[in-house]
Amino acid sequence: MRFVSTRGGTEPASLSDAIARGLAPDGGLFVPDAFPEADLEALRTATTTAEVAVALLTPFFAGDRLEGELTAICREAFNFPSPLVDLPRDSAVLELFRGPTAAFKDFGARFLAATLSRLSDDSHISSADHPDRPVTILVATSGDTGGAVAAAFAGRPGFRVVVLYPKGMVSDRQERQLTCWGGNITALRVRGDFDACQRMVKEAFADESLREEYRLTSANSISLGRLLPQMVYYAQASLQYEQRHGTPAGFVIPSGNLGNATACYWARKMGLPIREIVLATNRNKTVTRFVEQGLWEPAPTVATLASAMDVGNPSNMERLFSLHGGQSGARNAIRAVLVDDDTIRETIRRGPSEWGQVWDPHTATAVTVREAIPSPHWVIVSTAHPAKFEAIVEPLIGRELPVPSALAELLDREMDFQEVDAKLDSLAAVLT
Ligand SMILES: *Cc1c(COP(=O)(O)O)cnc(C)c1O
Repeated sequence: MRFVSTRGGTEPASLSDAIARGLAPDGGLFVPDAFPEADLEALRTATTTAEVAVALLTPFFAGDRLEGELTAICREAFNFPSPLVDLPRDSAVLELFRGPTAAFKDFGARFLAATLSRLSDDSHISSADHPDRPVTILVATSGDTGGAVAAAFAGRPGFRVVVLYPKGMVSDRQERQLTCWGGNITALRVRGDFDACQRMVKEAFADESLREEYRLTSANSISLGRLLPQMVYYAQASLQYEQRHGTPAGFVIPSGNLGNATACYWARKMGLPIREIVLATNRNKTVTRFVEQGLWEPAPTVATLASAMDVGNPSNMERLFSLHGGQSGARNAIRAVLVDDDTIRETIRRGPSEWGQVWDPHTATAVTVREAIPSPHWVIVSTAHPAKFEAIVEPLIGRELPVPSALAELLDREMDFQEVDAKLDSLAAVLT
């Protein structure tokens, strides 16, 4: 399979090249040139998540130099569960927070690490002039990506990770997960918002000399190496739901940069039994305004309780436009509902009595949206463990939450970061 840019201005690339490059050379995002039909029989007989992953991703790896590594990559990446738990009211919750940093970003980060570590000699990230330098992974994070990527690459020889996160806009526990690594991980606390962090990363990539000299590659949700593995849990959960209940489910997805949602649209495109998709957003209105008014107008980020979804300029929308043949096609195909902070609080407060669940603020947006839809058979996608956001959740439910043990271990470590201005110069200085 080949991968093309959403902007149509580059030669089709192999899977390895598309993953190694991150962004397409014309500034667009890589997408498959055509979507394969999923092999539903193979998917139904797969027992572990890793087996589902191999069955689903085989066509994407066909003909690539990593084709023979797919099984090993999937075993390495998908080594934690993603249970689909039935709930009252013809609903279920897909728990994507059982990985090392307790958020769904672990799926993408671990798969990307497993893939990139087998590509470190790829011409797009290796440098003839500096063959001995490590590959530098730049990652802008609104909270969870950075921790997941750091965890996936910590201690991996040949790689260095520079994480940029917005000062004051991530939870204490998220900040600890970003800054607890040392070694080959550098954490930058940026005086700016997430969009400023993302801009710095984009500017660094646009600078050819920086890109070559430091062998830059990206780990943001623009990376194909993060999107592909996210299709896996939608494949698994949609088939499970259909098998248990005899009918396909719709999915409600807490959304920010739209990487998780794009993976669900892609899985549906491949023929998985996904009836409908509804996006839940926070007060960042770019997506809901587009759906309501047809106006695609990225806006400055607004800080909300669901901070990992605080994105005013969701990069993956470009992939959804491409998938649906342009803006008007996308507008018809996308449903999105905005949930404000007071409602998020209220949904968390009612979680234990009404659902028997403790929701984190991101999942709570999807729960709110589910509650407002009268039709049956919906899967609520749960993107983070509530203990990651204990400062918000605990006062609302009136008790302390046990911390998953992997998370507890990270929280005990020292914090180590550099605080910088939101300028390319400050990032360049750290790279040298
Ligand atoms: C990143 C994140 C989201 C948003 O996912 P996108 O792919 O950016 O839309 C939602 N919830 C949590 C907990 C996250 O970390």
